Amino acid sequence: MSTPQIKIVEVGPRDGLQNEKNIWTVEERVRLINYLTPCGFDEIEVGSFVSPTWVPQMADTALVFQRIEKSENCRYSTLVPNQKGMELAITQNVRNISIFTAASEDFNKKNINCSIEESFERFQPIMAEANRKNLRVRGYISCAIECPYSGPTFPEKVAEVADRLWQLGCAEISLGDTIGKGTPETTVAMIKAVKTRVPINNLAIHCHDTYGRAIDNIEAAIENGVYIVDSAITGLGGCPYGGANAKGNVATELVLAFLNRKNLNHTLNAKAIEVARQFVLNR
Ligand SMILES: [Zn+2]
Repeated sequence: MSTPQIKIVEVGPRDGLQNEKNIWTVEERVRLINYLTPCGFDEIEVGSFVSPTWVPQMADTALVFQRIEKSENCRYSTLVPNQKGMELAITQNVRNISIFTAASEDFNKKNINCSIEESFERFQPIMAEANRKNLRVRGYISCAIECPYSGPTFPEKVAEVADRLWQLGCAEISLGDTIGKGTPETTVAMIKAVKTRVPINNLAIHCHDTYGRAIDNIEAAIENGVYIVDSAITGLGGCPYGGANAKGNVATELVLAFLNRKNLNHTLNAKAIEVARQFVLNR
């Protein structure tokens, strides 16, 4: 059996930086993404069109998007939390957007101040517009394993939310272990439930390395057919809403080392990743 090519989505410039206390300038964000472009990612998350009042780290994402050097071999996406963000994405000719919800009611209430149902009401006009304009949409599901407020998430609940995103027209659904409490067992149980509703080829795994289990969980996900993996260079960021311990996306360089160790096919460029890593560490 030939192994499929593992695709990596670099989330550092958005999911990473938005959770860093230290705010990066537009120029620094542009440089970071320009260093990430030659690394061989399937997609780079550039930023978020969220109000700078709420997330000052993501201010001027439009400028960042304009100024980066884009390669034809990579998708450049932005998170669109609402209608206003969608208008900005359209104005900036963004072709790839992301939307965000959680599999936990409590998390959504505390994080985006609405129920899961209300988050889908917000998605309706965004998805209608995206479908009209033929944009590619990535859907994020937070707390796919466990919620900092309500404890373990039922795999069935994740499957239900994933199915709704899929029915709305998402091309890819990223399943997030937001607080890093997943184990290979809970990760596999979740994936098995979700893949009964959404094709496995359209699922991505998004692990946080809070308790040092991210690589084990990614390995378990890959063994169960997932081949899209989210990571952030140097493990940037975390989740301010996920509780005091919710820190750090899995580091891209750790994922690279794992893929090489397992002889898995990928398109990452180790030299370029090392250069990007040094840029972040020496900033
Ligand atoms: Zn994350």
